[in-house]
Amino acid sequence: MKEKTNARCAQCTVPRNEKSCLNPQGKGKGVRGCPTLNKRALAAEVRTEYAKEDIREFARQASIQEGECYAYRDQKPFRLHPTKPRIQEICEFAHKMGYTRLGLAYCIGMTTEAGLVLQILEAQGFDVVSVMCKVGSVPKEEIGIRETEKIRIGNYEAMCNPILQARIMNDAGTQFNIALGLCVGHDSLFFRYADAPTTVLAVKDRVSGHNPLGPVYTSGSYYSRLRQKGF
Ligand code: SF4
Repeated sequence: MKEKTNARCAQCTVPRNEKSCLNPQGKGKGVRGCPTLNKRALAAEVRTEYAKEDIREFARQASIQEGECYAYRDQKPFRLHPTKPRIQEICEFAHKMGYTRLGLAYCIGMTTEAGLVLQILEAQGFDVVSVMCKVGSVPKEEIGIRETEKIRIGNYEAMCNPILQARIMNDAGTQFNIALGLCVGHDSLFFRYADAPTTVLAVKDRVSGHNPLGPVYTSGSYYSRLRQKGF
């Protein structure tokens, strides 16, 4: 039986400079169940994963990219000064990895945005395979959706088809995929079936202008119903 995990980093009250996960050799403090203090064997096993050449290079370039997203890094005291939007981060990371062919898996609700993203990616020299979620036009009935469960009741509706989006990208040999606005769950299937690693440019949030943290930030006030079971 799997060991029950009790990691609760989101409840950690240890001051930043004393946290075990932010100090060399994990020397520091953590709250009860701290995974840095309690999962040393697993952590050691995972470190061997990063020893694999391709994984190491991917992680190394991601870390370099992370650092390069800040300016004035040699200043003391250091002050966070972020400089790059995520779309730039994605392009720079893909260049670092030597990727030339990218996949853009997007939602029909992000058609305008997908066109803009395509222009940017092509301007940066990438060959882009773009596939919209409704590709294949498979009727929702095929996965057991009833008429009352459609968005527009009484109309033909094609299901979102993230597996086909992924398979088309696999066939095209994309080296790195970008998810743009895929629905909750559809994105999960895309990640599961895509051969190439996938990053996310934006997630869909229909009521917040695709800013899902808006309702989270205001869950102590206007969105307080989110903290009540059943909303
Ligand atoms: S790893 Fe430990 S110290 Fe770090 S946030 Fe989690 S509980 Fe806190």
